[in-house]
Formats: sequence, structure tokens, C-alpha cells
Amino acid sequence: MKVMKFGGTSVGKPERMKHIASLLNKQSEPALVVLSALSGTTNALVTIGNNIAANDRHTALQNINALHEHYKTFIRELLTDEKAYEKAKNIVEEHFDFLHIILKISFSEALNKDILAQGELLSTKIFCCYLDEIGESYALLPALEFMTIDENEEPQLGSIRTRLSNLLEQHKDKRVLVTQGYICRNARGEVDNLKRGGSDYTASLVAAAINASVCEIWTDIDGMHNNDPRIVNKTFPIEQLSFDEAAELAYFGAKILHPASIWPAQQYKIPVKLLNTMQPDAKGTLITGEAASSGVKAVAAKDNIYAIKIRSGRMLLAYGFLRKVFEVFEKYKTPIDMITTSEVAVSLTIDNAEHLKHIVKELEALGTVEVDENQTIVCVVGHNINETEEIIKKLFGSIRNIPIRMVSYGGSPHNISLLVAAEYKNQLLQQLNRGMFGLS
Ligand code: ADP
Ligand code: ASP
Ligand code: MG
Repeated sequence: MKVMKFGGTSVGKPERMKHIASLLNKQSEPALVVLSALSGTTNALVTIGNNIAANDRHTALQNINALHEHYKTFIRELLTDEKAYEKAKNIVEEHFDFLHIILKISFSEALNKDILAQGELLSTKIFCCYLDEIGESYALLPALEFMTIDENEEPQLGSIRTRLSNLLEQHKDKRVLVTQGYICRNARGEVDNLKRGGSDYTASLVAAAINASVCEIWTDIDGMHNNDPRIVNKTFPIEQLSFDEAAELAYFGAKILHPASIWPAQQYKIPVKLLNTMQPDAKGTLITGEAASSGVKAVAAKDNIYAIKIRSGRMLLAYGFLRKVFEVFEKYKTPIDMITTSEVAVSLTIDNAEHLKHIVKELEALGTVEVDENQTIVCVVGHNINETEEIIKKLFGSIRNIPIRMVSYGGSPHNISLLVAAEYKNQLLQQLNRGMFGLS
């Protein structure tokens, strides 16, 4: 069995949903289909949640009504069979009734997660109405019955495997199994999610859980490109990447993949393919355990980074200083991305500022602390790039008039990271596109 995940734009228009059904029809093996919410829906639900949190129920109601209209039009265009349409209409009404009820309840984080889950619940159920209409044999496997995370928000792969296998066993005769991306249950049994863009993570987790032949991520672009196509004009798709390279790119900002989506596939040796729903015959990107070639493959950028510098005379010739620094971040469950040290100072970066105030307060017991907000990590990725002198020369030779705040080199053989103030990000990506790939 293969896993096929379709993102927001791939399900965002009625004709695209129909197109997915026709792609499924061409498959020679059964497919476990993971769907995102229709494009724009999760953003709209985030806004609605924020409106309710701010007690602006009037705006929340307006936004709920606008989204409701969108779904009414969507199913009218998608479905021609009256029975399938009536079924979809009832589904849409049921979910929007729920959102109206929520308006009357006091806000909580758990309630917000329920709001966010509506997108994937709606897209999968509506898609199944279309499968009914065309007579496809399918089963809908509710993600909330098998996708679980523990108290540290880590997926519980063992129990996901057991529960999912039981569900699949009940539908052995089906060629198409549909489930929701992104949503899950947490350790308290509440509805939760795998963070924004999390449907990729769902796909990779279920692929690992069922030992799928391949995990296909279908999106609106023909694979992982060498640079961010939203920022740089000329980019090209990369035919092959290793798991390590793809993981670095996903973690350091290539939006096409959720940051955590590679490890399950890597651990269970499931090839991942990035494919374009709009151009199904394009090659896309194949991600496996092998690197196709050495050299630089791509550049990516991760925004909203905080740089923290701790300066202390006590570091001089001392040991144990870094341990004390790391303990502070461990205490507040805040991962560190980049780190550089000198004899009297240590600079590091984080992307989660939830506990920044407390972290800074505790670090001040160790030395003078400076925080720079609004930084960006630009990361250059490729197989063993640290071992090639030419690449380093080319990399630094590409950069003109951009102050580099930090450099991380040698932590991984596949990654060189540069920290710059966010205002320089676009310029740096363009300069690297010219210098490393000869594209301007
Ligand atoms: P989906 O809704 O299918 O999950 P996403 O919007 O999450 O799609 O991811 C696809 C988008 O990622 C592309 O449209 C593209 O703009 C963006 N993107 C950013 N960096 C890259 C990259 N290096 N290669 C390909 N796409 C990228
Ligand atoms: N719908 C969710 C989001 O927009 C999950 C996803 O699309 O992967 O973040
Ligand atoms: Mg995505």
C-alpha cells in the first residue's frame, strides 16, 4: 500500500478534488490518502479562534459566515448527484452548527484546537461524498481514532501502528482509504494537531506505521526547488535528495515539507516523493537514504529567529559553563538551532520565544545577555559540502554588503547556516542563487 498526501491547494477547488479522484483511479496498488484542509481554511479558523480569544464574537461570527458560504458554493460545484449533495450539505451544516455553538462557550486552548480541526474533518468528508458520487470503493479512517501524541507532543508511533492496522484490517477490500492530515489526540484525549503544515507529518507517520511502499506528498509545485520560489525568480526542482538533506531543508524553512516530516520515513526506510498535483507527470523529487551527488543542492531560510548572546568573564578557562547555559533551555523545553562560542561569549538562536523572558532572567545569573529579535537563518544544504574547499569559497564569495551575524559550520556535513537580520534575507537568497547556482 502507498500513502498519498494532498495539500491545501490540491483540494482547494472542486475541479482539483475531482482531479485527485482521477489520479487515485490510475493507481495499481491500494492508497491511504491523507488530506489537508481546503487552502485558506486553516488560516480562517486561526483567525476565528483569535477573534473568540479576544472576545470579539461579532467578527468571529462574520468570519464563520464567510467560510460557511465558501463551503456551500464548493459542494454545489463539486457534486451533481442529488443524494451525494444532500449528504455533503448535512455535513457542512453539522460542522458550521458546531462553530456557532462554540461562539457561545468560553474560550480555552482545548476549544481552539477543536476549531482548528474542522478544516481537515470537512475536506475529507466532502471528498468522500465525491467518491460516493463516482462509485469509488473507499473507507474513511478517522485520524482521531489512531493518531495520538504523548505529553511531550511526540507522536506515539507504536500505538498509531496498532490502531491503524486494526482499522485497515476492517477494510481489507477497499482500494482507497481516506484520512485527515494534521489532527490528532493528545495525552489528555483532547483533539490536538501536529502544528501548521502538519499533514506532511501525518503522511510520513502513517507511511512508517503501515510500512508503505512510498510516501507521496502531492502539492502545487514540481518538487523541492534549489531556492525559495516565493522569493527568488529563477529556481529549479531537485531530482533526488537524501533523507538528511531533505530533513535539513524542511527544518530550516523549505515550506514544501513540515519540519518533522522526514524522520519517520527515514527511520523506516520509506522513500518519499514530492509531486505536483497540477503536473502529475513531472518528475518531482525523490528522497531516499542515498545522496545522488555531492555538492550544494539547495538554500532555504527560516524566519522569526531570536539570537541570544551571553557574555561572561567566568567562561575564561572554565568548564561547565555551557552546561549551565543549556540547562536553562532544557528547563523551558526550548530547542536551540545554531550555536557559536568564543572564549568569553556564547551566541545561540531559538525560534520559540514563549519562555524568552524567563530564559533571559535565568541566563543573567551567568553573564550579560543581549537578545536580537527578527533574525533569519539561511541554510545551505548538500551532501558533504563541508569537505569541499571550493564550496566554502563560492559561498562566501557570493555574499556582498550583507552583515553576517553568526556562522554555523561543521555541525553537520550537509549544512552551513548563516544568521542575518531578517531585512537581508531576500538579498542573501538572491545573492546565493547567483553565486552558488549561476541563476539571477
Ligand atoms: P501544501 O498546501 O500542498 O502543503 P505548501 O504551501 O505547504 O503546500 O508547500 C508548497 C509551497 O512551498 C510551494 O508552493 C512553494 O511556494 C513553497 N516552497 C518554499 N520553499 C520551497 C522549496 N525550496 N521548494 C519548493 N517549494 C517551496
Ligand atoms: N491544514 C493545516 C495547515 O494549513 C495542515 C496542512 O495543511 O498541512 O497548516
Ligand atoms: Mg504544507
